[in-house]
Amino acid sequence: MASEFKRTLVTAALPYANGPIHLGHLAGCYLPSDIYVRFKRLKGEEVAFVCGSDEHGMAITMKARKEGVSPREIVDRYHFMMRDALADFGIAFDHYSRTSSESHHKVASDFFKMLYDKGVFEARQTDQYYDPEAEQFLADRYITGTCPRCSHDAAYGDQCEQCGATLNPTDLINPQSTLSGATPVLKATTNWFLPLDKFSDDLRTYITSHPEWKPNVYGQTLSWLDAGDGLQPRSMTRDLDWGVPVPVQGAEGKVLYVWFDAPLGYITAVQELKGADWETWWKDPSTRLVHFIGKDNIVFHCVVFPAILMQHGGYILPDQVPANEFLNLEGQKLSTSRNWAVWLHEYLADFPGQQDVLRYVLTATMPETKDNDFTWADFQQRNNSELVAVLGNLVNRVMVLNHKFCGGRVPAPGSAPQDREALAAVAIQSARVSEALEAFKFREALGHAMDLARVGNKYLADEAPWQTVKTDQARTEAILGVATQLVAALAAVFEAFMPFSAERIRVMLGGAPALTFADLAGTGPWVPVGTALGASALLFQKIEDEQVEAQRAKLRAASASNPTSMTEPSTPLAPLAPEITFDQFAPLDLRVALVLEAERVPKADRLLKLTLDTGIDRRTVLSGIAEHFAPEDVVGRRVILLANLAPREMRGIESQGMILMADNPETGKLAFVQPDGELPVGATVR
Ligand SMILES: [Zn+2]
Repeated sequence: MASEFKRTLVTAALPYANGPIHLGHLAGCYLPSDIYVRFKRLKGEEVAFVCGSDEHGMAITMKARKEGVSPREIVDRYHFMMRDALADFGIAFDHYSRTSSESHHKVASDFFKMLYDKGVFEARQTDQYYDPEAEQFLADRYITGTCPRCSHDAAYGDQCEQCGATLNPTDLINPQSTLSGATPVLKATTNWFLPLDKFSDDLRTYITSHPEWKPNVYGQTLSWLDAGDGLQPRSMTRDLDWGVPVPVQGAEGKVLYVWFDAPLGYITAVQELKGADWETWWKDPSTRLVHFIGKDNIVFHCVVFPAILMQHGGYILPDQVPANEFLNLEGQKLSTSRNWAVWLHEYLADFPGQQDVLRYVLTATMPETKDNDFTWADFQQRNNSELVAVLGNLVNRVMVLNHKFCGGRVPAPGSAPQDREALAAVAIQSARVSEALEAFKFREALGHAMDLARVGNKYLADEAPWQTVKTDQARTEAILGVATQLVAALAAVFEAFMPFSAERIRVMLGGAPALTFADLAGTGPWVPVGTALGASALLFQKIEDEQVEAQRAKLRAASASNPTSMTEPSTPLAPLAPEITFDQFAPLDLRVALVLEAERVPKADRLLKLTLDTGIDRRTVLSGIAEHFAPEDVVGRRVILLANLAPREMRGIESQGMILMADNPETGKLAFVQPDGELPVGATVR
């Protein structure tokens, strides 16, 4: 599959320049992309690895407005912070760019102009709410008002959280701008839409030519194409004053949609990196394009961006998009606003020089096929029982025994059957590591690497040079010669996962040369016999209970002491609703229910039709969550259902109840209210 390609362009999702980097970002795409690139280089392949800060979009302007600074100040602050944090963890981009740069503005602007001149876009005029005080158009979420259905007075422009109604901003009674509090006025505006519906067939051909994509990526992408209404035109411009100006006459005050310009940042980065040779990396079909992203970006990288590239013409398309699921922290979703996160810069302050421990644990628990959980207990356990007890122990024993019994030089390896067998494990295990990494199976690959260290430990324990030294110096040196070669090979096998530790091993081995995977396929030696060894030092240190407890306490404290002033909501928190009595609450029959099936509702963009098991019956509920969740994201979830809500008909379907959703004020996204893991279906909620 990969053999038809001559080089690989690897991109990692552009992090949004509105906050520091936490371990969820690292596990999601930066660590896997870095491991993959390092691995490809260890195989001697030609790779370019680019990333950069995504510095446009509404969240940046909102944060700037909130802090009373310019958007430029916000993006400058976080661009450098993010760049440095990723570099500190060894994420070895060839180039880390930024989308607010002049060069990127030119790339994005030229791209848009090219498509515009080809007549790709559809101009559409719509009436949109405009804030006359803030002098800007308002996205749905920046308008609140009274719900026409239930009279809730803090409904959003796209939805009422109280009754679940899906709304248009113009449905709201007494609409109000959340920017200034002003009453918005309707104003005509023209935006340019990418008619994705017209490209469905081409996109389907492209996507179905990649059945090798991870099931989550392939399935989610096809589900967009197969949705009730199919793909819909998407506006590629926004009425905003921060971003890449729309390079079209009459488009003053408009910028490119952030998801139009951000992926083009990959092109900008390669231009900046490669100069005149950039086209080899973006236009030569023998270049393989691989996008590492989190699952929230799948549609943009597998549908929107390929559509843009196809319409432009002349560019290669993504060949692989190994998206990861999400990493949770101690059982909860990572949250910037609640400070429920482990920030990279804080980790380094608490565990100086131990980047590799985090790299190792995050790789071992990488959310490759489903969401996964990072816990400090697991971090401690993996450090102590794997890094310290297996890999660190082997390296340390070999170093100490060499200095003690072999004069501090690399002895010649023995050639007894067990010696040859131990050395042969290098080729076997490195081939397994290689095969797994080619398939983007990082956890499995790491396991194979650690198994080689286990081979070394077992060999040393079986051969016991500390015993043989009493009677047989030659055999002792032969054993340690084998063990030393294993350690040299381990440095290479672990290099992609833990580059700092690999380098430290090589230094201990007297400046041993860096190896390739081709070297590992042979029988060695991987460090020349006779090399004078460096000083022995512990590769990893035991992590004590107190250290782990301190981290947990820090999380709890940060989360608990986090007043709303510390949060960074993109919309204000909804005000407290008017008081009710218990008698008004008591009639609600709330229950834990299980989603058995979910499908989109034709001609209704926002609705999902769900089949629920309530424990007492099986019923249909329509939920206005289709813009936030794909059907396959919902099936299998346990939810809280308002079970005795009078049935009502929508789109010819009777909905028997309402699912409770929470509004995330930080992201503006809907979230499920998840029952505790032990609650059975049918449990009542009071
Ligand atoms: Zn309502």
